[in-house]
Amino acid sequence: MTDGGYPEGPLGPDEITAESPFTLPGFFDALSDADLLAAECNDCDAVLVPPRPACHACGSRQVSISEQPRTGTVYSYTEVRRPPTAFEDLAPLTIAVVELDSGARLTGRVDAAYDDIEIGTPVELTVRSPDVEEEAMLSYEREWPLHVFETRD
Ligand SMILES: [Zn+2]
Repeated sequence: MTDGGYPEGPLGPDEITAESPFTLPGFFDALSDADLLAAECNDCDAVLVPPRPACHACGSRQVSISEQPRTGTVYSYTEVRRPPTAFEDLAPLTIAVVELDSGARLTGRVDAAYDDIEIGTPVELTVRSPDVEEEAMLSYEREWPLHVFETRD
């Protein structure tokens, strides 16, 4: 599922830069353009979201970038009643581990009340501009998009 244009592992230090999807800034840059990227391990098929230069399952550095589906289902979820200051106005927050249709898992906020979702609820990833209080965020986080899951039918 590699869409080309990205370096493949094993990566050298000059390939793991802020522009590379193997770092969080690069991952969020791609997400701003609506591309949800993962690294796939060529040795054990683990899918890493966000991408990492080495596989957390087997340690292999033979990884390649793949684009992930934005749809999936709730794998597990919880409610956060006292979120970080920047998200205080949004409390209580529903946070879920979502299993994407590819099998990869991504944690994120769900734009639904805790009582309105359950394990297996279908959701879709949306990307929003940061609109929370900036002073509570680290400087490099202010430009990162917020990923939020919305329920779907
Ligand atoms: Zn692996």
